[in-house]
Amino acid sequence: MSTLPAQPVPPFVFVRRRGDAPPREMVTGWDRLTDDGWSGSYEVELVCFTPLEIAGETEVPGARRPKLFTDPPIVIPGTSLKGMIRSVFELVAPGCYAVGSRNPDPPKGWHACSGAGGACPACRTFGSLKAAGGAYRGRVSIRDARPVDEASVARDPDSGRRWLYFGSPKWGAGLYPKQPGPWQKLYLHHPRLERLPGIDHGTDRQGEHQVHAVARGSRFAFTIAFSDLDDRQLALLDYSIELQPGLLHRLGHGKPYGMGSVQLVVTRRHVWPAAGKLRAGTGERDGLPPRAAELRKDLEQAPELEDFRRVALWRPDFDRPIGYPGRDARVSGPPRIDEIFPEPYAPAELAPPELAGGAAPARPVAQVRPTEEIHRGTVLNYRPGQQELEAVSTDGTRLGIARGSRTSSLLSELPDELRNRLKKKKTLRGVSVTVRVEGNEKTIVAIGPPDS
Ligand SMILES: [Zn+2]
Repeated sequence: MSTLPAQPVPPFVFVRRRGDAPPREMVTGWDRLTDDGWSGSYEVELVCFTPLEIAGETEVPGARRPKLFTDPPIVIPGTSLKGMIRSVFELVAPGCYAVGSRNPDPPKGWHACSGAGGACPACRTFGSLKAAGGAYRGRVSIRDARPVDEASVARDPDSGRRWLYFGSPKWGAGLYPKQPGPWQKLYLHHPRLERLPGIDHGTDRQGEHQVHAVARGSRFAFTIAFSDLDDRQLALLDYSIELQPGLLHRLGHGKPYGMGSVQLVVTRRHVWPAAGKLRAGTGERDGLPPRAAELRKDLEQAPELEDFRRVALWRPDFDRPIGYPGRDARVSGPPRIDEIFPEPYAPAELAPPELAGGAAPARPVAQVRPTEEIHRGTVLNYRPGQQELEAVSTDGTRLGIARGSRTSSLLSELPDELRNRLKKKKTLRGVSVTVRVEGNEKTIVAIGPPDS
């Protein structure tokens, strides 16, 4: 009798956001500093425990553009870091589902804050785009992360050679919770990178992306500034940045494959009274104020966060096979966390991995200096099947092309109305495009609405 192969563990599980529906409060004005608020900054180091690739946007003023790890200098956009930190904050605060894709079917009381009913702790801290009367910009700003020094970042040896499929099953598939609830999807950390069984890759690489990752062991540094947070907000922010010993964040592409397991280490914490400037004699000080430190300790011991701690713990020896169930498997909901990780969380000091790349972080192939061209009044064609955008001039000359994940980040730059029209009609006239020319390659790097 043959033995059945062990069922793979799916790459993600679901943990419950902490507590009851998020408490909402009216947002106080940006200009009014509270008497008991705190302002300050964090210096943070980011260490890659597995290869990392990001496509996001940098926050350089006036130059909002997608940034890929193919283009040196290698920078992790602050917006990506903010999303990562906010998702932990939302889990532990708890916060609303401001990012709808994290749970398209949240229970009553957990929907995105709308402004009229006040803002949840996450929206009060990080801001909200949906607040009544316009966007509320929040009290935390996060800068782009840059290599700690020239020797701290290396190319992953497989960079440019590895192709991965970035899709994952949609909500509602068998691996998702059956009951609506304040669920949050978390990816398991696993040290080995592999193709996932259960995904039909085929041979044409349809929907696959060429990965340009930095190597495990790469180190980046960045700054977080915050203004006028109360003790509780500060404790939540502090925890969402530097997790408990042994826990890692997830960032960027290829999470189901094990990419993007990163550790955040606070190298300097600077806190001072928000209204300090108005009072004479109040100094800055390092470390958390006592009340915030106490609240942070409560979070570290909160029993409701045990599932999160078990999932976020880095286990260098974890070797269960990871994969989606086969097409014919009958799946009745996500696996139990205490079955995958039966041991309770115990704090662990992590040894940062050796830098395992070698190649310089500079662009690996082309030596040609890229130039950028801006074309106005172009025709934009969208081919959803190929995940492709093509810009042509009115006489039909091809001006540039974008493929794969670049296509989706470009589409997200368009105002909703134009994006919907493009998706429906598959073509849009009068668009401005920025094209990066590199040898024979013409890549669309930015698109904008027609000039009025
Ligand atoms: Zn909210």
